[in-house]
Amino acid sequence: METKNTWETYDEKQLKEVDVFAREYMDFLDNGKTERECIDTIVNQIEKAGYKELGALIKDKSALKCGDKVYSVWMNKSIVMFQIGEKAMAEGMNILGAHIDSPRLDVKQNPMYEEGGFAYLDTHYYGGVKKYQWVTIPLAIHGVIIKKDGTTVEVNIGENEDDPVFFVSDLLIHLAQEQLEKKAAKVIEGEALDIVIGNKPLVIDKENKKKKDSEKDDEADQAGKDAVKNNILSILKESYDIEEEDFISAELEVVPAGKAREAGFDRSMILSYGQDDRVCAFSSLKAMLEIGKTDRTACCILVDKEEIGSVGATGMQSKFFENAVAEVMNLTGEYSELNVRRCLSASCMLSSDVSSAFDPSYASSFDKKNVAYLGGGMVFNKFTGSRGKSGSNDANAEYIAHIRAIFEKESVNFQTAELGKVDLGGGGTIAYILALYGMNVIDSGVAVLNMHAPWEATSKADVYETKRGYVAFLENADL
Ligand code: MN
Ligand code: MN
Repeated sequence: METKNTWETYDEKQLKEVDVFAREYMDFLDNGKTERECIDTIVNQIEKAGYKELGALIKDKSALKCGDKVYSVWMNKSIVMFQIGEKAMAEGMNILGAHIDSPRLDVKQNPMYEEGGFAYLDTHYYGGVKKYQWVTIPLAIHGVIIKKDGTTVEVNIGENEDDPVFFVSDLLIHLAQEQLEKKAAKVIEGEALDIVIGNKPLVIDKENKKKKDSEKDDEADQAGKDAVKNNILSILKESYDIEEEDFISAELEVVPAGKAREAGFDRSMILSYGQDDRVCAFSSLKAMLEIGKTDRTACCILVDKEEIGSVGATGMQSKFFENAVAEVMNLTGEYSELNVRRCLSASCMLSSDVSSAFDPSYASSFDKKNVAYLGGGMVFNKFTGSRGKSGSNDANAEYIAHIRAIFEKESVNFQTAELGKVDLGGGGTIAYILALYGMNVIDSGVAVLNMHAPWEATSKADVYETKRGYVAFLENADL
């Protein structure tokens, strides 16, 4: 089967829409470099579109009816949205799912130290990263510090042009002979991914300094110990009113600094941090906001922790989604344990995540007939997993036939793919978790070049086409 280039199928009007959509997407990426930032951005958008917070509706004992829009946020890092359909929820929903966490470096709980005149923050990488890609690039710090009294200090530094940035050092090429002999996985070790945060000692008062210079007194030496670190601590105290101890209850994510950019002379692509999987999260969100009234309830789940196995209270394995479904069904007046089960098992889902785009520079890693091409449209992976489909969700042929028919009717460009060659490795998504309810689930999404690198590339046409696919799915799927 020949894959069409999606660009060639667009008329003038659509080409304009592609660019407008890409601009909105790039703003979304710039405003959401952490899960929490994504949630804030999403809640802002959906509240403007008439979505109401589930907790408030429960408190008011509000009844939900067809066309009503409701959302629930879990621990500021995951969200589920519902737009109630004409049919009873027990007949099943059409669900879009994607994740909003991305690979990065997390700041450790006891992170600060000084060495050789530098102050550092020690990090623990999150998700699958090629560690050598993270050295010598400008980094920003995003996140929250929760103080003992419960107040939240928001941190976002390194993005504005006049903000300072941070970096991980690397050995100069002139001395790197030994380093370059190492395997790529070992060239930069995880513990070497500490970020440089300062190099200037705390200025001690003149009296103290004189004393130090003349007497070399113990007390003065003590003042000079960790002077660079102490200087940073005093800056942190001044800017954020935090103590070193407060790192214990902080979630600080170190991410590439800078905004999403158009790529190529033809501006056909987007180069940005965090497109896995915010590209699917954004296009799912926009599809939810675009649809009119639907037969089946439309649902969108945007979750945390996919990159580390969908674990924890905010990952897809958490019961927060199922609980939200039960609460919503309670408000539509059809709650029962059995109806919740019926709803979940009768649902259809597009589990959306990025797929690897064919890379001509590494052609031997892919099966050219079964790989996604950048610009080839929305991607479907019947299965994911690795080496013999291990860890995969494998979508039913009947379901795929149903989706094919919808996409043909709505003229959505799509392609089918596997991640790469059979024996080379693979990956998993959230698909298998929802499939546990017995619902139809297929992996779908957008092709990405250099996935999990600090800067990932997508095609503007694919992003737009995927949103079209989601709309077609939400409005038509019923199996
Ligand atoms: Mn992903
Ligand atoms: Mn990933």
